[in-house]
Amino acid sequence: MKQKIQKLPESVVNQIAAGEVVENPASIVKELIENSLDAGAKRIGVTIVAGGQQLIRIEDDGCGMGPEDALLSLERHATSKIRAVEDLLSLSTMGFRGEALAAISSVSQFELKTSEGGVGVQILSEGGQIVAVSPVARNQGTTIEVRSLFYNVPARKKFQKSATTNAAQVARVVEVIALAHPEVSFSLNGKKELASADWPQRIQEIVGEHEHEVQFERNGMKLWGFVAAPSKAMINRTGQYLFINRRSIFSPLISKAVKEAFATRIGEHSYPPYVLFLEIPAEWVDVNVHPQKKEARFRDEGQIFRFIQDAISKVFIGPDPIFSDPISFVPPPSFSFAEPLPFFQTEPAPELEIAFPDRPLTVMGSYLLVQKEHLILVDLRAAHARVLFESLKIQTGKSQALIWPLEIEIRYGEETLVQELNRIGIESRLIGQRTIAIDALPAFLDAAHFPQFFEQWKEGKRMDQVAINFCRRLKKNYSLEEAFALWKRLQTCEDRLYDPIGNAIWKELKEENFEQILK
Ligand code: ADP
Ligand code: MG
Repeated sequence: MKQKIQKLPESVVNQIAAGEVVENPASIVKELIENSLDAGAKRIGVTIVAGGQQLIRIEDDGCGMGPEDALLSLERHATSKIRAVEDLLSLSTMGFRGEALAAISSVSQFELKTSEGGVGVQILSEGGQIVAVSPVARNQGTTIEVRSLFYNVPARKKFQKSATTNAAQVARVVEVIALAHPEVSFSLNGKKELASADWPQRIQEIVGEHEHEVQFERNGMKLWGFVAAPSKAMINRTGQYLFINRRSIFSPLISKAVKEAFATRIGEHSYPPYVLFLEIPAEWVDVNVHPQKKEARFRDEGQIFRFIQDAISKVFIGPDPIFSDPISFVPPPSFSFAEPLPFFQTEPAPELEIAFPDRPLTVMGSYLLVQKEHLILVDLRAAHARVLFESLKIQTGKSQALIWPLEIEIRYGEETLVQELNRIGIESRLIGQRTIAIDALPAFLDAAHFPQFFEQWKEGKRMDQVAINFCRRLKKNYSLEEAFALWKRLQTCEDRLYDPIGNAIWKELKEENFEQILK
């Protein structure tokens, strides 16, 4: 009988392993920057084209590699960082699995140029096969170019997100690493540069001013960094950066501890922005739960929770008079359509509109008053419904990538809703069996209100009804900026006069109207 079992060729093994290490452009950028840091780089340049799917380039001025090491570095389980299992306990570098370069090169057209100071070496590989090796002139350091990502793994390529989403995630990765390494300078797409700085300055450059400094130590644990004032609380965790022993970690536990310390100073569904560095003995935390080291598991969750809560509470019990009486200080809930602009913007900023003749005057409840030739009274909920209707139905306007995907629980049999969401331009995918992750939303449908929208939409009504019902029931305080942004967006709609079910959206108020009102 013919033998059925065969050993897989090395290139296939690498491609399979690649699934764990390299999910998307952001994870590749992360691995490559971490290699540069491990190599002692002081300057790291990142370039991406088309969200990284066409090109990812990382250049550094680290120690570089000699020709033999360079060739070895592309092989699986080839690492300079550990020699034996014992070394894992005293690890100071970021990587150690020796998997990243093998994995990345197996799913791309890959180029490595590196030099230890003298003549360097250039290696080209395609789908994990080395196709050329030649000497090259280069200063000390390493350049890696990853082109045509997943070109040889069509199934993976198909599931990649949009270039905008990928670019936003890459920018986030660079920012996060830069927060933890202020001594290193970073640039993204050559646009802006973060020069080498001290910690407060680096944090300030990336996240802006955070009012409260945190400094707390207890039982061998140390927490320091900055938290923003309660009035800056956001509708999601985008503004929260946590580092445990200098690695960026996502920890719902710590996020919750901080939120509880803010107590009634912030609304129930808002999240205070922070940049926090937690230092704890390495053996108290397991950060290798996931190959990308994103989440941490603590030996004693309760202890960590109380420690964080106490550290942050202390900030508010300090001498700052505003916070001495938490009850008298209730900041308004801050809802905003727009997230604060990230330091590394990957999309060009929208052009400033010159001489827009309309002037926003004031918002009263859900009505906006605009001054043009006459006064214009705008029903914001009707305008909102029109704008939403057109962006979902006709798909005008751009969607905005969410940096944290929004996760929505679904019921059995609702999996096909993913395709339908994508059809109306809401970028989403199934993760696990009962969860949909939303990656991008149209403008004017914000993440905080999406669950409400989703409930109404999935009942299967017509889009005009959904848009109207959703906007009518929206308990939303429009700020003047939001209201005016909505009014301006309305001007680009196909129908600027009526909401989706035919009611007028706005009316001009002329002098005779005033007379009628007064008489
Ligand atoms: P790991 O980082 O886990 O060791 P990688 O596949 O990421 O595995 O890298 C393999 C090896 O290649 C590293 O151990 C290091 O010796 C070398 N290397 C990778 N990137 C660089 C770089 N930018 N500069 C110098 N050496 C590098
Ligand atoms: Mg590595």
